[in-house]
Amino acid sequence: MAGGLSGKPADALLAARARPGLRSLAMADLDRTMQITLTKTFTFDSAHWLPTFPEGHKCRRMHGHSFHVDVLVAGDVNPEAGYLIDYGDIKRVVGPIIDSLDHRVLNEIEGLENPTAEMLCVWLYERIKPQLPLLDRIRVRETCTSEAEYTGPAA
Ligand SMILES: [Zn+2]
Repeated sequence: MAGGLSGKPADALLAARARPGLRSLAMADLDRTMQITLTKTFTFDSAHWLPTFPEGHKCRRMHGHSFHVDVLVAGDVNPEAGYLIDYGDIKRVVGPIIDSLDHRVLNEIEGLENPTAEMLCVWLYERIKPQLPLLDRIRVRETCTSEAEYTGPAA
């Protein structure tokens, strides 16, 4: 049967257009998922020194930072649920890992003998990803203007 414009679906569409509220419901039905990225930020204060920097470089001296770590998770959100993940679930995974870095000399932590922001990103990603599969990337900020980002191993 040829689909006629006078059939029921077209009538329903016209009716929906006449009432904007119904029309947006119809559009939500069409787009069942939305790609969303969430960020939760953690902070810790620690000391480090960078053994691979040149002799005489200031970063070879022991110093401290108030580190900021952005944990980004990404995925499809069903509009009916309206959320990707409970922020509390991110905190339950990441909190203890951040606590293990807080008020430490990072160089003394296993795997962080060379604790650059880059290596910190990788170290955090490798510990968080197995427990938080939605993890998309890690950002580590040492200062307001200096930040490293890791998106996981190259595919
Ligand atoms: Zn530093």
